[in-house]
Amino acid sequence: MEKKKLSCPAGHGEMKLTHKKKHMNFKGVDIDCPADCFVCPTCGLEVATVSQGTDIQKSIADAYRKKIGLLTGAEIIEGRKKRGLSQEKLAHMMKVGIASIKRWETGIIQSKSMNKILQQALSGESCGDFLTGNRALSIPRIKLALRYLEKVMAMKILKENDRLLYAAKYMWYIDMQAYKETGQSITGATYAALPMGPQLNNYKDLVAEIIKAQEKQAAPLTEEEKLVIEKVACAFPSTKRVYDAAHREVVWKEKSAGQFIPYSDCFRLTEL
Ligand SMILES: [Zn+2]
Repeated sequence: MEKKKLSCPAGHGEMKLTHKKKHMNFKGVDIDCPADCFVCPTCGLEVATVSQGTDIQKSIADAYRKKIGLLTGAEIIEGRKKRGLSQEKLAHMMKVGIASIKRWETGIIQSKSMNKILQQALSGESCGDFLTGNRALSIPRIKLALRYLEKVMAMKILKENDRLLYAAKYMWYIDMQAYKETGQSITGATYAALPMGPQLNNYKDLVAEIIKAQEKQAAPLTEEEKLVIEKVACAFPSTKRVYDAAHREVVWKEKSAGQFIPYSDCFRLTEL
């Protein structure tokens, strides 16, 4: 709260410190948030000081986060203190930089997937499995996702003798993008950097099993997951496109052969 006094620039004398509830649309969401500013009783002009402006931005970010089910800055701080974690410790658990924790606590909005990992870390669950994308491996679900991709692209992708492993590259992009958007992979598969590109780990051994799998045994794809698959299909309309794109990704190039590619690398993909 500021004690400062402001005068109306139109010469109406002292402005009144006023607590307002602002209604607005932020990123497509209707929110109400408290805002303090100075108001001229004569002409109604509203002025916010620099620190009031900062508080208003924070309160907009928090109202938005509350409305769409993300942790607010205060909830992150409170949750972290309850578990006796420093910002540094929390950052280490989540495999993010300490700057991210600081920003989320002071009003920058975290992504949905980061929110999920935050919730896990603050509730004391083991914090995000970066190799499987927070899901147990489901081979029927790999088949389900690839069948949906084939339907969207109107071409056959899952093949027994797929020497260039196109299906495995599409699956990599699909799982990475799903993790980025929802905090969870679609299939629970692990991925590795291999000379042929980023690959579903052990794909050559898995492919027969995938072809045999009963996709009815898998949990159906959610609308969000279908959108992710459609997005990947749009980005790479041919197998050559997905092959070339995968070979341009830094997260693949920087790794030695056989090294796992963690899902946390999804934020560094450049081709999607
Ligand atoms: Zn005035």
